[in-house]
Amino acid sequence: MQLNHLNKLTGSFDSTAKMPVLFVGHGSPMNAIEQNEFTLGWQALGHSLPRPNAILCISAHWETKGTFVTAMEKPQTIHDFGGFPQALFDVQYPAPGSPELAMEIQRNITKTNVGSDDKWGLDHGTWSVLKIMYPGAEIPVIQMSLDYLQNPQFHYDLGKELASLRRKGILIIGSGNMVHNLRVLDWNKPDQGFDWAQEANAKFKKLITANEHQQLINYHSLGHEVELAVPSPEHYLPLLYTLGLKTENEEVSFFNDKSVMGSLSMTSVKIG
Ligand code: ZN
Repeated sequence: MQLNHLNKLTGSFDSTAKMPVLFVGHGSPMNAIEQNEFTLGWQALGHSLPRPNAILCISAHWETKGTFVTAMEKPQTIHDFGGFPQALFDVQYPAPGSPELAMEIQRNITKTNVGSDDKWGLDHGTWSVLKIMYPGAEIPVIQMSLDYLQNPQFHYDLGKELASLRRKGILIIGSGNMVHNLRVLDWNKPDQGFDWAQEANAKFKKLITANEHQQLINYHSLGHEVELAVPSPEHYLPLLYTLGLKTENEEVSFFNDKSVMGSLSMTSVKIG
């Protein structure tokens, strides 16, 4: 079915209006099987966005040495977590892959060599969100990995190189959490963030709105609250891909803007 959107002569995706870009705070994998304010936000997005030809997700949960794209026809649903109910392990998200999109990305990116992967699939950073946004699983989905050897500037610049996909009906999603410190999670604060978490989140939002991307790239210099909010880079870096895709005058809006369990924020960004 995905072949409908491919130009048979060029093997490339047909031109479309420019697609929005998302950064989605994915939070707990349980969101995939719950109904809550966050899943309602994802559901509403799934209904309101133009229907994508395919989806590219940069998930916090796929870190590799070098950059890879999933290139298989049928990506497996990866249950990359432990200690959750069987119902979550039973979830399958059988969206097709898109070797064509993987190839298109490999053709477009000049900054680094992007490898083809045939072993990963869709991790919960991707499927826990897409299962709610597009429950039919009929839109092709691929993932691009985070190269753990690279600095934040690299990830931001790599995001920029994906820009042409937006005019080919590709929905690009960075999936992570801006504030993500699992070591100090507080189960007694299901609906609240610690002061430092809220301050870090507010700082991120302010800089995003003001287009101060360089400060967000140099997040190590943003102070103590941000140090606590980003103890390791993988949940933050997907945001930099999203921001790299923003053009000067594009509109930015926030959704699911809330801190939970003390040290997590679900705050999500829509560009365009
Ligand atoms: Zn995660």
